[in-house]
Amino acid sequence: MVKRNCTSFSLGEGIRTIDKIILHCTDSDVDHDINEIARWHRMRGFKDVGYHFLIRRHGIQFGRPIDQIGAHCKGQNSNSLGICLTGKNEFDQAQFEMTARLISSFFPGLAIYPHNYFNKNKRCPGFDIEEVTSLLAV
Ligand SMILES: [Zn+2]
Repeated sequence: MVKRNCTSFSLGEGIRTIDKIILHCTDSDVDHDINEIARWHRMRGFKDVGYHFLIRRHGIQFGRPIDQIGAHCKGQNSNSLGICLTGKNEFDQAQFEMTARLISSFFPGLAIYPHNYFNKNKRCPGFDIEEVTSLLAV
């Protein structure tokens, strides 16, 4: 059962448990569509887009179903959700707000990390995650 404000949850017996959210950016100034990103990821040999959610300038697009392990953070995919914001150095406040609303609504309590917490060589996500965490409903 998924409880409110849990630090982890199971999607069913034999299906994965999710205990963290990892934030990413597309590292592009273009507000790319999820299908475009899926195409790039398939070209890299992934079976589908590696992220579970894409936060675009004017809305959220769904990526890989959350019961499936993503392909977005080496060594951390099995128990995480990957949320990616379109953008490189500049993001809209609305994107931070949508991300916070998504997390507050459906995944409250999960630990949230920037991609570069796990891979110090990356600059991803290119924003301070406090832009999102400061907006979370408590
Ligand atoms: Zn990333």
